[in-house]
This record gives sequence, C-alpha cells and structure tokens, in this order.
Amino acid sequence: MFENLSEKLERSFKILKGQGKITELNVAETLKEVRRSLLDADVNYKIAKDFTNRVKDKALGMNVLTAVKPGQLMVKIVHDELAELMGGKNVDIDVKGNPAIVLMSGLQGSGKTTFSGKLANMLKTKRGKKPLLVACDVYRPAAIEQLRVLGEQIGVPVYTDENSKDPVGIAQAAIRQAKAEGKDVVIVDTAGRLAIDEQMMTEITAIKKAIEPNETLFVVDAMTGQDAVNTAKEFNERLDFDGVILTKLDGDTRGGAALSIRTVVNKPIKFVGTGEKMEAIDAFHPERMADRILG
Ligand code: GDP
Repeated sequence: MFENLSEKLERSFKILKGQGKITELNVAETLKEVRRSLLDADVNYKIAKDFTNRVKDKALGMNVLTAVKPGQLMVKIVHDELAELMGGKNVDIDVKGNPAIVLMSGLQGSGKTTFSGKLANMLKTKRGKKPLLVACDVYRPAAIEQLRVLGEQIGVPVYTDENSKDPVGIAQAAIRQAKAEGKDVVIVDTAGRLAIDEQMMTEITAIKKAIEPNETLFVVDAMTGQDAVNTAKEFNERLDFDGVILTKLDGDTRGGAALSIRTVVNKPIKFVGTGEKMEAIDAFHPERMADRILG
C-alpha cells in the first residue's frame, strides 16, 4: 500500500544522495519533497509539517551538512521519525482474565465483523485461547448471520439472541455463558452505522460501561484516508478506546490513515487487516512499516 509513498520518498532523497558536499538549501529542498510525499499519501497538513520540522531539527543536530553520507543519514532520520509517528513499538492486546473481554467498535462496513472473526481465529490457533464471539447488532439480522457463518468457519461458538433488542443484556448474558463454559476470551461485535450517530454512540458507550472490557478496539477502513482519522477522533472522544484496527490495508490505500491516526488520537494501532480471509490479520509493527516505506 505504501508503494507510491516509497517511490516518492526515494526520489526526494536523490538530491542528497548524489552529492559529496551539501548545503542547507539541498536539505531544505529534500524536506520539501518529503513533505509533499506525505501530503500526497493523504497525511494531514499539520502532521506533515510537524514531521518535516522534526526531521530538520534532528538533521541539523546530527550535522547532516558535514556527514560523509548525508543521503543515508537523512533516510535513517526519516525512517526513525516515521516509526515514531506510527507509535514506535507494537502494543499487544490484553487478553488476560476469566474471561477477558474485547469490545469492537466502528462504523458499518469498516470490517468489524470480519475482524472479530480474525481475532477469534488468531487467539484460538496461535495463543491457545477458547474464545466466544457475541453478535450484538440487534438491527441487522444479516450481521448476526455473518458472524455465525464466520464462527462456523473457524470453529468458534457464536452467542446470539435474535429475540432480544437489548445489546447490553445480550453482552452480559454472553459473558455469563462464557464463564459457565470456561471460555477465556469474549469478543463482542457491535452495531455500526454508515455515519456517526448519537444512538450508536450512546449504545456502545452503555455496553462498554456495563461489561468493562479489557480492550475496546476501534475498527476503521484505511482506504477512507482522512475520514478514517476524523472518525477515529470522534469515537475516541466518546469511547476512549484502547487501540485501533486498520482494515483493508491490502487495498490501494495511500497510507495516510496509518501515518496519522496515532498522532491524532494518541492510541496505538494494534492490528491490521490485509484481506477478506480469516488469516489476513497482522500485528502492527511501526518499525517494520517504516522499513517497508523506505525500502
Ligand atoms: P462491518 O460492517 O464493520 O462488520 O464490516 P464487515 O466485516 O462486514 O466488512 C465489510 C466488507 O469489507 C466485507 O465485504 C469484508 O469482506 C471486507 N473486509 C473486511 N476486512 C477487510 C480487509 O482487511 N481487506 C479487504 N480487502 N476487505 C475486507
């Protein structure tokens, strides 16, 4: 997904790479190109500007003008700052507890239900957990059915109650069942809307309050760029979530969401979704992402 950005950044460093002796003007031109590359990747203006200012300060602090290989030094500085921008280190989810509770939030179509299945599958196959999935979307029977199908596919039970219109009650009943059956992780999939609305926010806030999850995760479609960042901000203000899940990184996203969300909400991106299959889930590693961007 970062192909475009990678290419552009590589081009920006050309000015510095070809020269034995460089000037402040060369550095300034390079930084301007870096900023332009970030803007083209759909990073918000202020974030891009602050980013290049930090790179500049660091470059001057490290005496880039007299460095033997100024191009390489700049690439390293940009690499480290990119990793920092995306959160520095990977932050795992907390699934300790009896049971641990994970609450999923996000807009409809963001990939919430798919990710709930992926997470359950990953916890089951890689960490030896016994998950229970919970369908709390009382408005869309199709969403309940979708989770049931996914559960069947990965061999994880799904708690549903089609007669209930009370998502808080469903989540609580599911947790009781999980305890009774010795399940150790409960993943609660909730209703989303196409756009943020008060009822959805009130509902998910009430669920969170009632079940006190270990993890509240916010799922967002990376392809929506700046919108993803704005939605994250609004959800975080209401829900104070613990981590972000960026989905559809396999699509032709320009990467702006991945580069901006951490700065805007100050919460880590914990996982990414890279396809429709249940195996298409990866832990998010800022360092590795920066490696990928800079090739
Ligand atoms: P929800 O409404 O938030 O529960 O979203 P869904 O889980 O139903 O996902 C919406 C659509 O996005 C479905 O067609 C999914 O197959 C698709 N989807 C979800 N995650 C990914 C992903 O990481 N990559 C791709 N390419 N598609 C995804």
